[in-house]
Amino acid sequence: GCTAESVVDALRGAADAVIADKARLTALDREIGDGDHGENLARGFTAVLAKLDSQSFATPAAVLKLVATTLISTVGGASGPLFGTAFLRASTALGDHTELTGAAVAAALAAARDGVVARGKAEPGDKTMVDALFAAVGAAQHADREGGTARQVLTAAADAAEKGAEATVPLRARKGRASYLGERSIGHPDPGAVSIALLLRTLAATAD
Ligand code: ADP
Ligand code: MG
Ligand code: MG
Repeated sequence: GCTAESVVDALRGAADAVIADKARLTALDREIGDGDHGENLARGFTAVLAKLDSQSFATPAAVLKLVATTLISTVGGASGPLFGTAFLRASTALGDHTELTGAAVAAALAAARDGVVARGKAEPGDKTMVDALFAAVGAAQHADREGGTARQVLTAAADAAEKGAEATVPLRARKGRASYLGERSIGHPDPGAVSIALLLRTLAATAD
């Protein structure tokens, strides 16, 4: 099962992936934003790696809470508080469970999505990370109803988030910096939606 230790490993994998993809994420943000999304996330996840190495954790929720507070204090921009809120809400949803089931993962993802919506006020179709999160949660809940394991739920979420991120290409941005471009935001994927998909893909790959 997904113990605190395996959640730490999964988050190390996610952090490594974000840092490795820094240039790609920044290039996406250069098209419709201010060209810092990869730098912002890489800074945050570099700090996460250091924090994960310096502490031990009783529960998966404790790991996610430390990730949340670290991202809030290091990422900055629009995405920092949103990623922080996502991890914080997921942490709260997991409570003191020490083993993560598919149902717990689906509930944590739904809580993360709801937190991002509450904080950023974006709706599906606004061309933000919310588009990837809605797709991910729908697929995760479906996989859970089919009796999926944590890994199967995360894999379904990652597949759907990638499609959700791709589906932002033809959209016109209505929230965040990209919205300042109006029509010119059409034809590019939303960087935050792409980074949500990347995170879910690496979490799915390392979940047990
Ligand atoms: P900034 O735009 O402040 O430079 P980043 O480049 O790190 O911050 O993050 C940009 C991403 O943040 C966008 O691609 C989008 O997914 C997300 N974003 C911006 N505003 C919102 C919002 N109100 N709700 C949800 N996501 C948002
Ligand atoms: Mg930016
Ligand atoms: Mg910025």
